[in-house]
Parts: sequence; C-alpha cells; structure tokens
Amino acid sequence: MPSKYMIHTKPVPNRFQPVSKSGIIAWEEGCLKCAVCVKKRCVYNVYDRRGIDSHHMIESIDNLCMNCYSCVQNCPKELIHKSLNPEFNAMGDSHWSPPIIVRLWNQSQTGKIPVSGAGYPGPFSGPGFDSMWTDMSEIVRPTRDGIHGREYISTAVDLGKTPEHLIFNGSDTLEGEPPSIIDIPLPIILKMPSFGAISTNTIKGWAMGARRLGTLIALPMKKIDSVLEDRGDCLMPLVLPKGTSVGNIPKNAKIIEIPWTEGWQEVVEDIKGCFPNLFVSVRIPMAEGMEEKALSLARGGISIIHLEGSLMSRFMDNNARNLKDGIRSVHIKLVEENIRDGVTLLASGGLAMAEHVAKAIICGADTVFVDFPILIALECRMCRRCTKGLSCPVQIDTASPNWVASRVVNLIGAWHNQLIEVMGAMGIRDARRLRGEVGRAMFFDDMDRTAFESMGQVEEGCELE
Ligand code: SF4
Ligand code: SF4
Repeated sequence: MPSKYMIHTKPVPNRFQPVSKSGIIAWEEGCLKCAVCVKKRCVYNVYDRRGIDSHHMIESIDNLCMNCYSCVQNCPKELIHKSLNPEFNAMGDSHWSPPIIVRLWNQSQTGKIPVSGAGYPGPFSGPGFDSMWTDMSEIVRPTRDGIHGREYISTAVDLGKTPEHLIFNGSDTLEGEPPSIIDIPLPIILKMPSFGAISTNTIKGWAMGARRLGTLIALPMKKIDSVLEDRGDCLMPLVLPKGTSVGNIPKNAKIIEIPWTEGWQEVVEDIKGCFPNLFVSVRIPMAEGMEEKALSLARGGISIIHLEGSLMSRFMDNNARNLKDGIRSVHIKLVEENIRDGVTLLASGGLAMAEHVAKAIICGADTVFVDFPILIALECRMCRRCTKGLSCPVQIDTASPNWVASRVVNLIGAWHNQLIEVMGAMGIRDARRLRGEVGRAMFFDDMDRTAFESMGQVEEGCELE
C-alpha cells in the first residue's frame, strides 16, 4: 500500500473583515427594552462577540451571523430584519458568484470542508459542471473509520506516458528502464491567475504552498526570479516559443509548458536538445479544431497536453460551449484513436469548487489547474480593480509568503478531503481509475433526452383520426 498522503491544515486568520451575505437591521422605535433581549439568546453569541450592548438597536453588517433567523423570529415587536448586503451581491460575476467566493474564503481560513447545515443550497442543474451529477450509490457503504481510515483512497496521478505493460525477468526485477513519469499526490496543479494584485511575495507564497502540497505551480517564465530558482522542482515554467532563452529554465525543473504553434516540433527539439529529461506540456486553447491538434501532438510524441478553457469555464472561442464538453470531446477522440494512455490530459479554466475537480476527471482529464481559487484564498473579492490599475481593497500584494502558503494549503486540503469523500461515495479508490468514468456520473442532457424526447411523438399506426 502506498504511504498515506494527507494535507495537514490549521486555521489561518483573515487579514480583513470578510464581506457578509446579510446584515441585521433593527430599529429603535417601538423597542420594549426587554430584560432578556432575543439578541442575548443568539446561539452563536454574535451580539456579544461584536462587543455591543444588546439593547442598542444598530444596523450592522458582518460575517459573524449564521443566518439562523432566531433573533428575527423571536423579537416580540418584530423589529429585527435581515437584509442582503449590496456589497456581497456586487462581488464577482455569474461564474465566480458571491457564494462561491465566500466558500473559498472559509475553506482557506479553516482548512475544512464547507458544511451548510441546512441541506444543499445550490442549484440542481445549470450550465457546465452543474449539468452533471456524480453517482454516490456507494455512500450506503461508507468506510468504517472516516475518509483517512484504513481503506486508503489514493488521489495520486502520473504526468507523462504510462507504459501499456511492464516486463519482469525471472528474478522479479523490471526489465529495461522504469517508466519516466512525474508522480504528484493529487490531481491538482496550481496556476498563477491572469490578473490580481500579485507581488513577488505572493508568488513565493504560492510556490511554498505547492511544495508543501507536493504538487507544481505553473507560472510565466518571466515571473521566475532568483528567489524561486531553488524551488525549480515545484515550478512549471510557461515558456514562450520565441524570445525565451531555454537556458533560463531553472536547472531542477521537471516540466515546462509551451503554447501550441504550427512549428511546435522545432520548439520541442530545441528544448530537448538542452534538457533531454525535461517533460514538455503543450497548451491548446479550448476551441474549434482542438481535437485534431491534440491528436497530432499525441502522434508526434507529446505526452502531456493542456486544454485551456476560459476564466468562465467556457470555450475560448465560443461562450456557449462548456469546459466539461471540451474535455469529454478530446478524451473520447484519443480513446477512439487508441492512444489515450499515451497522453496525460491537463485541463484549466474556471474550476471554482472541489466538485469541479472530480467532474473534470470523470469527463476525461487526468489533472486540473487551479488558478483563481488560489487568489480568492487570499481574500480576493474578484472586483477586478487591479485590472484597471486601482488599489486592491484587501492589499493582497502585502501578504507575507507564509500566510499565502498556509491559506493555499488550507484550501487545497479542504478540496482534497472533498475529493476523497466523493471518490469514497462512488466506490473509487484510485484517482487514476476515475478518469473518463462517465458511468459514475449522470448528465442532464442525457437524462432530459431519455425522459422527454419521445413525449408528444405518436407511434406509427396509433394516430388519432
Ligand atoms: S440570525 Fe441567528 S446567528 Fe444571526 S444574529 Fe440572529 S440569532 Fe444570531
Ligand atoms: S480583490 Fe480586486 S483588486 Fe484585489 S486582487 Fe482581487 S480582483 Fe484584484
């Protein structure tokens, strides 16, 4: 049995007051000044923790209230009302929605799986990953002693070409060279987001986090300075095909990435000439024609292909098409051509929740990149002020590398536990086996078609006169 991989988390406090979903509005007029005010009976001690005299009728908005509505319901004069915080509603966009941002903050602060406590509050269907459900039929037979118990569930994955078979000689030793792969303990690679109030310390913190997790962080070559050079083993430099001297690649880097270009073979040859053992991933935009590009790369000997979707988890050239469909399409094409096991498929673009990792793998990815969640882990509000040259409301660029690393470890620790929960509930004990296992998922489109396609159709011979 492989040694157990666990991510150790511990609470890491916020640096700023988080934006809360709602506030309590109470009005002085009509207050009975009860001896035992309903505010005193708040089970979460919200009013006491604020250090406010409970008899004071104040308007306040903060993140301590757990929205149990007890004080709202029990005030004898019905003077307390909850209201939606406009600042909360203004955060992010339709994909990086306020509830998703808050959930990422909480996981980065606590390192724990989010628990809503009042049933599932999310949508039952929607675009993209919301239109597929994982089959949790094995949840009736949970492990006896928790997700880190005796029944080990491995989340390790390999980057690179895995051999079709191994040959052992008479004395049970492997014949030939062992397969050349990069083994990472979870199917997640960190990736520097395309915007943010990002400083050298932020990048250093992300690299420290990647090393603590045992994974990699992908970042543009120009962001790698002398501070990061000695962390080459956990870096995945994103190299431009032209204008970057391959001599600048950190000496102990195991893998780099180049974007797709027509002459990718020459670029790869140049790199391999200097670094014969370096793994090269080629990035293809998720767009029309990507299946053919993936096939030509696989046939040309590229063993790691990265499908890059948009920030909103869509195709780069078509906002109506979703990341999950792009991953499925390329995966199926490689399976049909019988070359799927010769390629590692990486996927990126708008992965915002732990369940997206499991769903992307079910659709056919081997490993995913996580980019904006590692910025939101640092209290980012996705306000995009930094893209206009304005100041960051949570001064991310001033955070210390240690704080950054610990927040990211907490976030990925919480995601890792959720991945294990989902895999356990699906009866899957190895992340490698989850890849392309669409039998473990239900797709809205398929179910909709099965249930309603024949509706209104009349069999031949049964028409009404
Ligand atoms: S709604 Fe519940 S948690 Fe929030 S302040 Fe009132 S009693 Fe406390
Ligand atoms: S909070 Fe706003 S300004 Fe700061 S990094 Fe996030 S998007 Fe940029």
